[in-house]
Amino acid sequence: MQYVFLSHDVDWKKQGPGTEHILARKERFDSQLFEKTPLEKMYYNFPEYMEIEEKYGTKSTFFFRTIYENGNVFDYEDEIRSLNKNGWEIGLHLDPSSVKDIEKIRNEKNTIEKILQNKIVGNRVHFLKTDKQLLEKLNELGFVYDSSVKKSKDHFKDDIGHYNQNGVIEFPITIMDAYLFTYMKVKEEQIISIFNDVLKYSREINSEFNIFSLLWHDNVLKMKGGRMYSKILEFLASQNDVVLCSGIELVNKIKKR
Ligand SMILES: [Zn+2]
Repeated sequence: MQYVFLSHDVDWKKQGPGTEHILARKERFDSQLFEKTPLEKMYYNFPEYMEIEEKYGTKSTFFFRTIYENGNVFDYEDEIRSLNKNGWEIGLHLDPSSVKDIEKIRNEKNTIEKILQNKIVGNRVHFLKTDKQLLEKLNELGFVYDSSVKKSKDHFKDDIGHYNQNGVIEFPITIMDAYLFTYMKVKEEQIISIFNDVLKYSREINSEFNIFSLLWHDNVLKMKGGRMYSKILEFLASQNDVVLCSGIELVNKIKKR
């Protein structure tokens, strides 16, 4: 089987980046979208993600920051609780300024857990600004997995599968939305064939058990490119040997082996 770890990083505060920021990037959206969507909802996609993933029988992981520019993670209290109550996994989107300091990491973890009223076990560093000693710290704090490594920005072959280090499972990011459209120069109409290539390669390495990880930022679902998420899941779900899952589900599958 080919297991696909589905995840979303919540990079922006609940109200989005603000009118000016969005209007400066107007061309990223279909112009008609502005007629029916208020600006503060252009980056807000939780209900849509939940609907798409439920349609394809899966529930992913959302990584939340605790530090938002001009915003507060507590604004996301309802979303965090509702996602989790309905079966989605919540993880920590660690601030790069905390990576080297175990007390800062502990504080960030506690903040999310306080909102969630439950434990979290997964982490990803914002901007993927991780460092070699991070996994050791995560292990000490009770994290079970991390997904902050991406070796190559312009192809996927170096970032497939998983490995164990310092008692933590690392899932390298195989495909990330932003790199797909910038470094990899993929056009919307080519996206499905890229996923077909990833699958083919993943099967070649290990047709019985392999993993690849997909990062699709929570704010991109209405953007050109980002709006292909539903088509991607449709394609992946149509394959007999593909299982879509969250990080924690994947960890449990690995441990059972
Ligand atoms: Zn981020």
